[in-house]
Amino acid sequence: MTSKLGNLFILAAPSGAGKSSLIKALLSREPDAQSNPKQVSVSHTTRAPRPGEVDGEHYHFVSREAFEALIEQQAFFEYAEVFGNYYGTSRITIEQTLHRGIDVFLDIDWQGARQVKALMPDTCGIFILPPSKPCLQERLEKRGQDEQSVIAKRMAEAVSEMSHYSEFDYVLVNDEFSATLQDLNSIVEAQRLRTAKQQARHQLLIDSLLSAE
Ligand code: 5GP
Repeated sequence: MTSKLGNLFILAAPSGAGKSSLIKALLSREPDAQSNPKQVSVSHTTRAPRPGEVDGEHYHFVSREAFEALIEQQAFFEYAEVFGNYYGTSRITIEQTLHRGIDVFLDIDWQGARQVKALMPDTCGIFILPPSKPCLQERLEKRGQDEQSVIAKRMAEAVSEMSHYSEFDYVLVNDEFSATLQDLNSIVEAQRLRTAKQQARHQLLIDSLLSAE
């Protein structure tokens, strides 16, 4: 399966690497919002909402039973168990959005990334690393949304997540936010200009340029 006109991107990172802020900044960048529409996929999860998180905006928060029913119905493009909770991407939403020519960004873990790459090999995988371990720890603590025990667990999980960096097409070290955002934007722009995408987008032009008349 190819991703039609829209491009599919995966952004993976350990918790605290700044992934969410980068996605948010990338999606709000002007002036290309009209000509190059993009969306971040809203996943389903069985984890409880954190303070400030809104159902349908940050995640679709569902029970374990509801999630398992969706697995049965093959409603997920990919899903995985991360930190003891299920997370999954809706199949129909992704397919419809890409079909409409909208770029989709998946904020998912390495397990989901593997599944997506197998289903759609032209997906662009990007891994974001923090500049150092102390910096990662500090970023997790600053959030203040999780208990200390949860932070310690997430630090351990971060090492495990980071060990998969080489499975991705691009690696960004998020030291200076605006520089990382610039690099991320460059990757997105380059992906849009890949030959297969340009062929689909400019088929009429290419046909006319190559015709004998
Ligand atoms: P958090 O609970 O901090 O929002 O997310 C925990 C981890 O789950 C992050 O690495 C995040 O990227 C990952 N995640 C979020 N949504 C999905 C999803 O739909 N599928 C997969 N495989 N991972 C997800």
